[in-house]
Amino acid sequence: MIDQRYVQQIALNWQVVCDQVRDAALQAGRQAEEIRIVGVTKYVDAETTAALVRAGCFDLGENRPQVLWEKADSDEMDDSIRWHLIGHLQRNKVRRTLQYRPRIHSIDSPRLLPAVSEESLRLSITTEVLLEINISGDDTKTGMNANQIESLIDQGIPQGVHLVGLMAMAGLGTDRGSAQQQFAAVRRFRDTLRQRTDLPLSELSMGMSKDFVEAIAEGATMVRIGSRLFSTTPS
Ligand SMILES: *Cc1c(COP(=O)(O)O)cnc(C)c1O
Repeated sequence: MIDQRYVQQIALNWQVVCDQVRDAALQAGRQAEEIRIVGVTKYVDAETTAALVRAGCFDLGENRPQVLWEKADSDEMDDSIRWHLIGHLQRNKVRRTLQYRPRIHSIDSPRLLPAVSEESLRLSITTEVLLEINISGDDTKTGMNANQIESLIDQGIPQGVHLVGLMAMAGLGTDRGSAQQQFAAVRRFRDTLRQRTDLPLSELSMGMSKDFVEAIAEGATMVRIGSRLFSTTPS
């Protein structure tokens, strides 16, 4: 059993993060409703994840496919949850992962898209995906470079897949100002892709605990927040 004080802390953290996201949206001249908060639950077990859901967070993100499967299968979870895969998806894990109908933020290689397409068609579903761009240039970060993304799009998005936008992470150790510049570059790149295709590419998944305010200023529509929600010290 998790400690009731921790359950209350999580509920409070959720409210604080919701308020800060709202403030950041208003500051940027945007509507709070334009931004979806994905609660990143990779740090905690199913019981603690359930406490976040009870606090009102119904979009959950996991970075490891197996952990997403296990959590989604656990008795703590119900149908109200919308799953987001935000980490690397191995092609041999596509089939099992799609059972949970996640939105996949992390299409990080051109070879993954045909696999997701094939399996989506087999299940008669459409899978929403985002292409992960490596903007920081860090070798340690995953994602495709701009050329790879352009050529992938020029080849045509396969059936069964609905490309909704781009996902990015600021480089490790970047300060908030540089993070904001990187997010602005993602938005501009999305705008050029829009002209290349007839796709709206309306989703930008960017911003984490330390830089979501900057990401919202640059047009993020999904922020992926983990540590701030599970912290035991007031934010
Ligand atoms: C862990 C993780 C997050 C959340 O990071 P926090 O700094 O804990 O908010 C967001 N996106 C991805 C891809 C992650 O792996």
